[in-house]
Amino acid sequence: MNAETPAMEVRNLYKQFQIGKRGIFSKEEFVRAVDGVSLSIGHGETLALVGESGCGKSTLALTLMGLEKPTQGSILFEGKDPVTDKEYHFKEWCRNIQMVFQDPYESLNPLMTIGDTVAEPLQVHGLTKNKPERDERVIRALEDAGLKPAVNFLNRLPHELSGGQRQRVVIAGALVLEPRVILADEPVSMLDVSIRAEILNLLKDLSRDKGISILYITHDLGTAAYFADRIAVMYLGRIVELGAMLDVLNNPKHPYTQALLSVVPVPNPRLRRKRIILAGDPPNAIKIPTGCRFHPRCPIAVQRCKEIDPQLVELGGKHEAACLLLN
Ligand code: SF4
Repeated sequence: MNAETPAMEVRNLYKQFQIGKRGIFSKEEFVRAVDGVSLSIGHGETLALVGESGCGKSTLALTLMGLEKPTQGSILFEGKDPVTDKEYHFKEWCRNIQMVFQDPYESLNPLMTIGDTVAEPLQVHGLTKNKPERDERVIRALEDAGLKPAVNFLNRLPHELSGGQRQRVVIAGALVLEPRVILADEPVSMLDVSIRAEILNLLKDLSRDKGISILYITHDLGTAAYFADRIAVMYLGRIVELGAMLDVLNNPKHPYTQALLSVVPVPNPRLRRKRIILAGDPPNAIKIPTGCRFHPRCPIAVQRCKEIDPQLVELGGKHEAACLLLN
């Protein structure tokens, strides 16, 4: 593997779901959940994928994880594609790329002890030869996830833990396989505000200390700004802006990013941002507008926005945005 090869790369990825016909004379309809996404995540990098509910970010994560089959496009892990690289096995993919879901209450089996829950991936992948080796890896994963001393948690059941501790168990279940990439889908949105920062700090530390690449999926620009090195803003199945976190926060180029940022609270009563309230209907992934998909809600749309579909263009410093007015 070349040192410049990203940990994960997505090339022109599409994921559509067929939903059938509305009537006998109508055409088949599809939900275009992911509609031509290209991005990459470097080794040890944290990338925030931000967008409103229904924009396709969770479908993108499930497709990256291999839980949904892409309709078109490719996904590479360290330059390897499990579809075309016959020597690369899908099981290896699953071990290297792990997912942390939103709801730690639903992610854990209420009848399994914490020790058995974290040990299960090792058994599925056949990675340990005996019980002492397995116990040692489980304890290490729990401690890396901040549950110390780990032996105190091994025989407990999920209902005996707080929400934050449960999400740490979920993270330990991912860490036990020593993954290279973690896809964290809204990992703190179900948790109390007081423990959100703790979990985000834990993920940040894991990225820094173990070189794990993290895709942090969220609708919350505030936590994304706190957490990630880079940000990708998604709208209706597409990335509309991508760049280093500070570049995008200080100088958002796409009108959608500007609108999202305008409603993020600023912790300074003297600073007031002008709120941009988007008009128009919420986006519908079955009927994506022609031209720029954002044009029905865009406050600065012009006539040609209805006709031309803008692509991401480089604006300098690897900051990219998809808006015709930036060309
Ligand atoms: Fe708005 Fe037009 Fe730019 Fe789309 S291309 S974001 S509609 S100005």
